[in-house]
Amino acid sequence: MNVKERLAKVREKVKVAASRAGRSPEEIKLVAVSKRQGLDKIKNVLDEGILDFGESRVQELRDKYDNFEQEINWHMIGHLQRNKVKYLTRMDRCKLIHSVDSLRLAKKINKRAKMEDRESNVLVQVNTAEDENKYGFMSEEVIEFLREVSSFEYMKVKGLMTIAPYVENPEEVRPYFRKLRELAVKIEAEEIPGIEMKELSMGMSNDLEVAIEEGATIVRVGSAIFGPRDYE
Ligand SMILES: *Cc1c(COP(=O)(O)O)cnc(C)c1O
Repeated sequence: MNVKERLAKVREKVKVAASRAGRSPEEIKLVAVSKRQGLDKIKNVLDEGILDFGESRVQELRDKYDNFEQEINWHMIGHLQRNKVKYLTRMDRCKLIHSVDSLRLAKKINKRAKMEDRESNVLVQVNTAEDENKYGFMSEEVIEFLREVSSFEYMKVKGLMTIAPYVENPEEVRPYFRKLRELAVKIEAEEIPGIEMKELSMGMSNDLEVAIEEGATIVRVGSAIFGPRDYE
């Protein structure tokens, strides 16, 4: 299968899962995760009308950033070191940072965005599976964090993100997606000034359908679109 065929399959999956959940497929943004994928393949995906791409390393995003005529919406989806934030806040096509996982990082983003006089939209990464090897806040910590960043003028929280553990049977990770949605509902009820809960970034190649059934508004799909990644 080529990229075009794989993408068609993924889009069909999004549609079917959305309709199963009584949702419109337009509510769900498909971010093509292009990490360790070549420019030629990215161009193929662009040709199919996808404009949102995700990268997990700042350096790789920078390397790819200027290679396209189309105005790509870049998404930073990987763990972010504070000393790399300056590159992202300088890039006006970096539309969303999915991976805010500490107050120190949030402060840095707010400060750097202020220096650039540009708002930086972010999601808060939640470690819903309470996996010691994963980044992200524990669910119980999120509301306190949001109260601390509520007054930030340049970093704007738009929702939550989670990465489910990899499992053979995606039904096993449904509870983690549900937990993220329930947390978002709870946060909304708190009515914290300046904090929005519009976006739930959850679901990858293996579990995107379950994530959509549980309310994902953004799915991050790599290998199901591009094929296996290049690990050289
Ligand atoms: C790599 C990655 C993805 C995409 O994974 P696939 O299984 O290839 O779809 C999604 N989200 C994050 C945070 C990733 O690092």
